[in-house]
Amino acid sequence: MTSSPDVIVIGAGVLGLCTAAELAGRGHAVTVIDPGGANASSVAAGMLAPALECLSDEATPERAGLLKRSRDLWPEFARTFGLALHRDGVDWRGPDGPAAVARLTAMGFAARPTRTGLTSAEDWRVDVPAAMTALARAPGVAVIRSRVARLSAEARRWRVEADDGRTWFAPSVVLATGVAAPIPGLPARAAAAAAAIEPFRGQLSPVAAPPPPRTLRTPDLYIVPAAGGVIIGATMERGRRDLDPDLEEASRRVAAGLALLGAAGEAGPPRVGIRGATADGLPLAGPADEPGLHLALAPFRNGWLLGPLVAAIVADGIEGRAPGPDAAALDPLRFA
Ligand SMILES: Cc1cc2nc3c(=O)[nH]c(=O)nc-3n(C[C@H](O)[C@H](O)[C@H](O)COP(=O)(O)OP(=O)(O)OC[C@H]3O[C@@H](n4cnc5c(N)ncnc54)[C@H](O)[C@@H]3O)c2cc1C
Repeated sequence: MTSSPDVIVIGAGVLGLCTAAELAGRGHAVTVIDPGGANASSVAAGMLAPALECLSDEATPERAGLLKRSRDLWPEFARTFGLALHRDGVDWRGPDGPAAVARLTAMGFAARPTRTGLTSAEDWRVDVPAAMTALARAPGVAVIRSRVARLSAEARRWRVEADDGRTWFAPSVVLATGVAAPIPGLPARAAAAAAAIEPFRGQLSPVAAPPPPRTLRTPDLYIVPAAGGVIIGATMERGRRDLDPDLEEASRRVAAGLALLGAAGEAGPPRVGIRGATADGLPLAGPADEPGLHLALAPFRNGWLLGPLVAAIVADGIEGRAPGPDAAALDPLRFA
């Protein structure tokens, strides 16, 4: 355990862990503080899906470029931290495959029509539990089970107090607390940014069933190969923060997924997580309104996809490097 870290990361979701690993890889001593248990990141399906995330009407070429650049950080990131990256692509089944292909092509993605929709090699995936374990064990990262109760800025360092009475100090703090309420002591603009994050509940089910050759998506659901079978997901429930599984919805979705696969399968208990979203659907990443305070929040549907990009932007900010090309789009105070 690091007793006087260079950086304290609050929150061990994908953004906190990717940022911690990136910083440790750059030679910083990093302590991550989190009470433990499931979070949105551990529930997620692990798709790294810049292409299919851009099938919707709201996507722009700029957004597509940003998502693609984050995906392209994954091979090196995965190699560095020992994560298995599955570059097996995606099949999409839906109406008007040629129009969907044209849309993706216009966004800069390679895809071709199939009899039932389209196929593309642009979307990849990671195995979430294994990836979280590998990131938490990255050399130079220490994870402490605790909940931060208060932050305060002292001369050139942050004081981080936990609700169990423990206290840590570090020159830099990264707030990666997902959809949690702002921690007392946060400066006003950072607190306002955290408070404005909108929750979107999501539910999916692990199913012991023969996996398809690559992720299979329709307008209504996805089926992602995973350890032990597949993951069938997911709901998108705006404004909800409760974690009680909806068993009826889960069994309907699992039945639809198995029908699509043409297979039988045994569903495990549904898993629920809360995604956090900003008004433009992009995360908040980079330096906040007080020296030494950095945000890594609200990646909405794409926390896994965007983890390495957020991590690089936050690490650059901590090191005082010139911001990279995507830093302005993710400016954490852009709504303040
Ligand atoms: C059903 C579902 C499926 C998804 N599938 C995908 C997918 O396939 N691909 C993809 O890219 N994204 C996916 N997502 C989105 C992705 O999961 C999220 O964008 C991402 O997990 C958010 O990560 P995070 O680190 O911001 O937050 P979280 O994972 O919520 O982590 C925040 C952490 O902060 C901790 N914390 C909060 N307050 C404190 C405190 N005071 N002190 C210490 N710790 C604190 C919490 O305990 C938590 O562990 C999915 C989400 C859901 C719900």
